[in-house]
Amino acid sequence: LRRNGGEQEFHQAVREVLESLGRVIAKHPRYADNALIERICEPERQIIFRVPWVDDTGQVQINRGFRVQFNSALGPYKGGIRFHPSVNVGIIKFLGFEQTFKNALTGMPIGGGKGGSDFNPRGRSQGEIMRFCQSFMTELHRHLGEYTDVPAGDIGVGGREIGYMFGQYKRLTNRYEAGVLTGKALFYGGSRARKEATGYGATYFVQRMLGTKGQSFEGKRVVVSGSGNVAIYTMEKVIEFGGKVVACSDSNGFIVDDSGIDLDLVKEIKEVRRARISEYANLKKGTARYVEGGSIWDVACDVAMPSATQNELTGKDARTLVRNGVVAVGEGANMPSTPEAVRIFQDAGVLFAPGKAANAGGVATSALEMQQNASRDSWTFEQTESRLAYIMESIHDRCAETAEEYGAPGDYVLGANIAGFVRVAEAMDALGVI
Ligand code: NDP
Repeated sequence: LRRNGGEQEFHQAVREVLESLGRVIAKHPRYADNALIERICEPERQIIFRVPWVDDTGQVQINRGFRVQFNSALGPYKGGIRFHPSVNVGIIKFLGFEQTFKNALTGMPIGGGKGGSDFNPRGRSQGEIMRFCQSFMTELHRHLGEYTDVPAGDIGVGGREIGYMFGQYKRLTNRYEAGVLTGKALFYGGSRARKEATGYGATYFVQRMLGTKGQSFEGKRVVVSGSGNVAIYTMEKVIEFGGKVVACSDSNGFIVDDSGIDLDLVKEIKEVRRARISEYANLKKGTARYVEGGSIWDVACDVAMPSATQNELTGKDARTLVRNGVVAVGEGANMPSTPEAVRIFQDAGVLFAPGKAANAGGVATSALEMQQNASRDSWTFEQTESRLAYIMESIHDRCAETAEEYGAPGDYVLGANIAGFVRVAEAMDALGVI
């Protein structure tokens, strides 16, 4: 704690994992040897850099860039880039730490990392976004490579930003190294189903989890927070599975539509016009209402899928959801539920899927994108999605079996933490003191 003063989210993420490890150490004391746990909590490398760029009025702006290369025992560092004004080193470290275990859970050869900047893309022109991305990559490119570190998107970074960063990487290195970034558009080395993967994956995970109780999404009322990449494709798959999505949000407020959210309209507002979710209520009069501020978790539902950001679902929200009869919670975002909220769900017997397991479909499909790049191949949507579905079901089963093996059946938090830890720990142990 002293070494990482003030890094609140990082402390929160580490504490949650360490709380799960007592049972593993009791069974396999060797995992406590050679400062293995301390090494796992310490990033291999942290890069912090200046990002200067020129705005449309000719003013020079300065942001701070980060890349935390957390753990490469299982493969090259892999994890997204986040552009949001709240970004600081503690947030990037929590995300990199979580990513290490998530990537291990996929069973694929990828290490963990995360990056970003406190740049706020909201209200910036296309030209400003491009110049920012180019400046960000001007420093970052020297730390990346297909065998070294492979970033992807996250909050504030979608296909457009990945394109600008890839263009700058190519220009600086004079290499068409498709495998250096994932989340690319299809026509320059992207994978089909990558855009959909995190949301679809979270939905496959929750569907499998509901199945353990003989239930499914069919006929369920579902609330999805956020209206970005993860939220949109979660809604799409939930609707395909027969669920009814009744609310979604952005950082200003939420919309409720009891007739079921019109996803084409949400896509038009968020993906095409890049506007606010409040527009939905203006355009779809009658059944929809917009609530500025407030908590989306006040909307009664059977399944909650928090898909916006960390700590967005508090203990108070969890109590409301339980009172309203929620049966399952699937985290599309990273650590969206506070520790108190997680405890409340678990104590109430609500099925709870933690982000590091439930949202692993994005990075897993990024690893499939790397495979396609390495073999200069391009798979069909169906082939890629069926791999994703299989991976998510396998992650679900690994978490469930691990929880059972360690005496806590149904505890997916414990199962995910232990299964992820064991894979990373085994690799680190095999590689010597690294
Ligand atoms: P996007 O930028 O596409 O969307 C983020 C959404 O969350 C937006 O609706 C945004 O609203 C809202 N949001 C962001 N910050 C806040 C905040 N502080 N308070 C309230 N709402 C907020 O990001 P993604 O959909 O890609 O990411 C969402 C979550 O999923 C993050 O936790 C991310 O780490 C995680 N994730 C993403 C993966 C991916 O493949 N993209 C993979 C695995 C996890 P607004 O527009 O108002 O900012």
